Amino acid sequence: MLDLTIDGHVHTRLCHHAVGEMEDYVLVAEERGLKQLFFLEHLERGIQYFERTWLTEADFDEYFRCGRELKEKYRETLQVGLGVEVGYNPQRREELLEALAAREWERIGISYHFMVVAGQHYNLVSRRSENLLALGKLGLEYVLSAYFATLLEAVEILPGQVVCHLDAAMRHHPEVRLEASHYRQIEEILAAMARRGMALEINASGMARRGQPYPAREIIFEAVRRGIPLTAGSDSHRPEDVGGFADLAAWLVVQGIPGISAA
Ligand SMILES: [Zn+2]
Ligand SMILES: [Zn+2]
Repeated sequence: MLDLTIDGHVHTRLCHHAVGEMEDYVLVAEERGLKQLFFLEHLERGIQYFERTWLTEADFDEYFRCGRELKEKYRETLQVGLGVEVGYNPQRREELLEALAAREWERIGISYHFMVVAGQHYNLVSRRSENLLALGKLGLEYVLSAYFATLLEAVEILPGQVVCHLDAAMRHHPEVRLEASHYRQIEEILAAMARRGMALEINASGMARRGQPYPAREIIFEAVRRGIPLTAGSDSHRPEDVGGFADLAAWLVVQGIPGISAA
């Protein structure tokens, strides 16, 4: 059962690549009849990239200050959750674990965004040509195998509750395609998630891009078969996308996956 009255994944201007104040997101969530909204802001450590697309510790201070005010202000109508989307970096495990332990997150979502190539990080989910070229040169099969292997490590090491956009790596590359070996890796990830009691995010941002969420249908079914809970996220980077689950809701009906929808 997928509860679409909860949006479990939104960003704000604090991450430097989204727009809107936290309160703008809360207001849209209320207007759309959601009962719960989780901010899931980007935390990364040790990434060598040409711009910063994550929060500093000072940004996170502001995030908690503002978030706690909003929780109180809207508590009659909306449950506001203050979470984090932690981007795994196998070179900085200890630092990531320390940063996670240092605050009271209400949800920890696990992602793996940046892969290192010759000392430089490239974003696996970006549509920028620099990223697509550098990673594409390594070969998509290799990049995806490395992505899933590292994501498995993240699931085994990080204290998360949700795995975000599981199959979104290289989503903007025109030749992206999963091989049988990748599906075997995904099964290992799902097994580790089940063991560790983690949920699978059904990321609605895939609907507009490819007509199904992240992850794809067969992965969702395999997760359900293994008893892994599902949780919906819009991955909004602008307030108007909060709770944008209409296409996802229709798709779930066609697939026969039961869900609860917002008003
Ligand atoms: Zn983002
Ligand atoms: Zn992400």
